[in-house]
Amino acid sequence: MKNHTGTHALNFALRRVLGEADQRGSLVAPDRLRFDFTAKKAMTPDEINETEKIVQRMIEANYQVYARETPLGLAKEIQGLRAVFDETYPDPVRVLSIGEPVETLTGDPTGPWAVQYSVEFCGGTHLHRSSHIMSIALVTEEAIAKGIRRIVALTGPEALKAHRNAGLIEKEVGDLELKVKSGLEDGSLPFKTATKMIVETGDSLSNSLISQWRKETMRRTLNSLKKSVIDADRAHKTKLAQQAVERAKEIIAGLDTQKESVVVEEMAVGGNSKALDTALKQFKGQAPNTAAMFFSRDEDSGKVFCLCLVPKGLVSKGLQADQWVQTVIEVTGGKGGGTTTTAQASGPNVDQLPQALAAARTYANSKLQ
Ligand SMILES: [Zn+2]
Repeated sequence: MKNHTGTHALNFALRRVLGEADQRGSLVAPDRLRFDFTAKKAMTPDEINETEKIVQRMIEANYQVYARETPLGLAKEIQGLRAVFDETYPDPVRVLSIGEPVETLTGDPTGPWAVQYSVEFCGGTHLHRSSHIMSIALVTEEAIAKGIRRIVALTGPEALKAHRNAGLIEKEVGDLELKVKSGLEDGSLPFKTATKMIVETGDSLSNSLISQWRKETMRRTLNSLKKSVIDADRAHKTKLAQQAVERAKEIIAGLDTQKESVVVEEMAVGGNSKALDTALKQFKGQAPNTAAMFFSRDEDSGKVFCLCLVPKGLVSKGLQADQWVQTVIEVTGGKGGGTTTTAQASGPNVDQLPQALAAARTYANSKLQ
């Protein structure tokens, strides 16, 4: 009965919000109600919210539900009454009104009654008062055919539970938003952790049975949060790459570029091995007699990255880039390769990085003698 009276209230609220929305079918189940209606496009979250609010206000108004057998001819004169298109009704027909006695309607059929209250032809059993619906939650709104949409709604304790759950998830999303924003600002929250938390909250949101408009609002918040993490990550990577280039320039400034030399350094660029490459390229033009190898550690993936560049002059002395990285792989594990002049490697032994740097220096210097 909650779902049946709720269906009438929903039908009324939909016309209020959408103007034209003709009923195309409905199903009243013990645990939910389903309502199909004509509409050209999907309802916006605001429209769904407004529809839900109108029904909630009808519930709070604690209207009496009136039913009365009425001659069909007289009943049909009631302006604005919601009848199902193409359906044939018995005579007399049972008029069901939420909030205003049927006699008032038939006594003044051109009055505003059916605009202000839910009035339908219905032979079914109903609640005595609208407050007995308790609550309503429109959990889905979707297309089922061209021009036909379907709303699934909960009433009674199920609706109260849905609203309680929505409140809990809203709190979770709000807390996450604060945590991610402050974590991005002071750099205390790794981007990967932030993304993982957002995805997890998004998953529990998707699996929740709550009002669609509340779900949609939270999804928007999560999407913009996800975007702010991506933006911050990108900005951070750009900054690290710039710092790596600056560091490379600094090293080059301290070199006697006429002499052959070896540079082996760690750069704080995380998993951005492209930044290592950019830093390395500085040597190609500005220190053409220097063999350079740069390392970085990526705590997220638990990997050490290594890139190197060897000028031809040093290759002929026996320092080959592809062999040089092999000395690194012996320490860091993993794999790598390349040509005699450029090579790269990556390995899992992050805590062996100092040893890998030392091994690479020793090997290269021994070739330079
Ligand atoms: Zn009915």
